[in-house]
Amino acid sequence: MANMKDYSNKITPNWCPGCGHFSVLRALQVAAAKLDIPKEKLAVVSGIGCSGRLSGYMDSYSLHGIHGRSLPMAQGIKLANQDLTVVAAGGDGDGFAIGLSHTIHAIRRNINVTYIVLNNQVYGLTKGHTSPSSERGFQTKSTPVGAIDTPINPGMIAMANGITYYAQAFSAHQEQLIDVIIKGIEHQGFSMINVYSPCVTYNKTNTYQWFREHLVDLDTDKAYSSHDFQLAMNRLMELDGLCTGIVYQRKDIPSPYSQLSLGKTKLGEVNVDGLMEQFI
Ligand code: SF4
Ligand code: MG
Repeated sequence: MANMKDYSNKITPNWCPGCGHFSVLRALQVAAAKLDIPKEKLAVVSGIGCSGRLSGYMDSYSLHGIHGRSLPMAQGIKLANQDLTVVAAGGDGDGFAIGLSHTIHAIRRNINVTYIVLNNQVYGLTKGHTSPSSERGFQTKSTPVGAIDTPINPGMIAMANGITYYAQAFSAHQEQLIDVIIKGIEHQGFSMINVYSPCVTYNKTNTYQWFREHLVDLDTDKAYSSHDFQLAMNRLMELDGLCTGIVYQRKDIPSPYSQLSLGKTKLGEVNVDGLMEQFI
């Protein structure tokens, strides 16, 4: 049986002390250990941002790619080798700004990849300016009178575009974070996990304490069902997205790409007619 330390390389993370991302890294390592995924069968891909460093701390296949493009890389890796467990990671700027169209199309394609968004509602790496998930009124050096744009509601975007597994979690609630990652990896299709992961250096509004006061834990709500689309949409709207747990899951839509394995075919031997038949 694997141990979480098996997935940790010798590089010391250079995140600020107290950054929520430590918890996400640990949760992914624990989840991989609990699922007993051989290291050579795990690929972790990240975009750019403080969150992007996550792949570099994993002792697995890892790829620190380009801004907003963790999902195209992750999907390509999965299609090339269906035997791999593929996890993509990125921040709110990465996934909801420059990479938003990739997020939406990954949701539509439903390729069997797990996408973890480390959402701190700010651009941390580039020194604290507003991101698409920053709240209205959020003050930064670039928005001294407060952000004026409506923040993105990632859950509603995911739901509106046909997500088959959508969960949310909080860095300070490890048990639930590990649980939703495990279930996301086990899900046969695209799974997305939006993790509220506080930036202690540049976001002095959405702090650990703030999240403790505002997040509603769906796991404790006996009347909630993650299989009820309308209920999930209503809850996301009512709570401005501020909830944790599995928000929505459906298992009746198999990934249309699950039988495709380009990696087993040498370039030049690709049967284009077969592919066209499969997809058109
Ligand atoms: Fe974490 Fe913020 Fe520091 Fe980046 S700047 S490492 S997000 S605390
Ligand atoms: Mg961010």
